[in-house]
Amino acid sequence: MATSNTLFRKLPSVDELLRHKSLAELAEREGLAAVTDAARAVLATMRDEITKGSLDERGVDVALSGIEEAVTRELRRATTYSLRPVINATGVILHTNMGRAPLAEAAIQRIGEVARTYSNLEFDIDSGERGKRDVHVQRLLAKLLNDAGSQFDVHSVVVNNCAAAVMLVLNSLAEGGEVIVSRGELVEIGGSFRVPDVMAKSGAILREVGTTNRTRVEDYERAINDKTKLILRVHRSNFAIVGFTEQPNIEELVALSKRKNIPVVEDLGNGSLLDLRTVGVNNESGVPESIRAGVDVITYSGDKLLGGPQAGIVSGRKELIAKIRSNPLFRALRVDKLTYAALEATLLEYVRGNLDSMPVVRMMRISADEIKSRSEALLKNFSASKKLKAEVIRGESLIGGGTTPAATLPTYIIAVTHALLSADELQDQLRETEACIVTRVEEGRVLIDLRTVFPEQDQVVSGALQSL
Ligand SMILES: *Cc1c(COP(=O)(O)O)cnc(C)c1O
Repeated sequence: MATSNTLFRKLPSVDELLRHKSLAELAEREGLAAVTDAARAVLATMRDEITKGSLDERGVDVALSGIEEAVTRELRRATTYSLRPVINATGVILHTNMGRAPLAEAAIQRIGEVARTYSNLEFDIDSGERGKRDVHVQRLLAKLLNDAGSQFDVHSVVVNNCAAAVMLVLNSLAEGGEVIVSRGELVEIGGSFRVPDVMAKSGAILREVGTTNRTRVEDYERAINDKTKLILRVHRSNFAIVGFTEQPNIEELVALSKRKNIPVVEDLGNGSLLDLRTVGVNNESGVPESIRAGVDVITYSGDKLLGGPQAGIVSGRKELIAKIRSNPLFRALRVDKLTYAALEATLLEYVRGNLDSMPVVRMMRISADEIKSRSEALLKNFSASKKLKAEVIRGESLIGGGTTPAATLPTYIIAVTHALLSADELQDQLRETEACIVTRVEEGRVLIDLRTVFPEQDQVVSGALQSL
């Protein structure tokens, strides 16, 4: 048996390897440095395997015969993107793991226009002097929310995400004082956003009232004392309490807050600018409802049902927003010009009434029948083999992550099974395609819901099924 030293001697040097014609050509195209790195990586892996004993003499010969391809593959691996598009066939419209809201075309274009050159991000064109970046969405948010029936002139600021918005609001308005929250709202929202922890970090003192399932307005009222700074309502974004439950509605909290002169803050999360009943989602309110009810400050995400870029928006009374804006934390949590560009373009689509421009809004509004006919059309182009079976069945889409836990939309689903592959294996194969198609598995079948697939991707899904 060959010793590892003999095997090591069989390996070419990096220089020798780069003299192979195909690799010399590759270096010409992709740059010598990148190809040298790839060659080093391949040789290092082989040395490792020889040391571990997993490559014997025959193995080394086989590997050497394919070493140029291995270097080419390594180069491709090292120079491709880590963050890349996927096809979301899960039917979950807002999927936190898949980047939440896809942007409106207008927002994508606007990012390009603003990013390509200099902008007036903090420059007041009228006066020629230094300006403020938060003016860029103030005007449109004010219009949308005032038009929605606000009782006061709405002001807004934008920070990195809704978690940052909550932290900033609590720190600005309640540091050192007490904030009253129902025990039924002490939630954890994905990625370790826990209300009691955020409260502690903000420097505000949590004053819990009521019980997990029942809290009444009197519970809030009894807890108010001279240290009370805010009443906080937190949306139960990712769970529901059912059965013997009670929670004051937001109007009752606003009435109490007015009587006691303590502002009420609502962490709404979902950020919907629509009346969700128009898409068949009842028992779930968005920003307009809270604004109409007279909530003093609302926090919500830009990339949930609003359908814009990642952001946390704080909207509310002028004097409270001014306090928030002057907090040094605001500077640390602010967003960049790309976010303003995308958010302003998204809000402008709302102002123009182009609701279907926002992919998440469009996806909520597509009818089950339209999804059915797209699913059937997709299967028509597809000649099922004896091994692969696909049929269109009834199902439910989810609005998803951090918005409305229980809200579903009726849909049609392509259910796929294979004679030789398990559902999990089918799911893996679809995910490992170039387009990376992400699906659900239920009861031994792979489920494809076209609600969250862009129509121009239907062909790709069909092709991937064909090649299974
Ligand atoms: C989603 C959500 C958050 C966190 O929002 P991010 O934008 O992910 O930071 C906070 N509060 C509520 C109620 C939410 O639904």
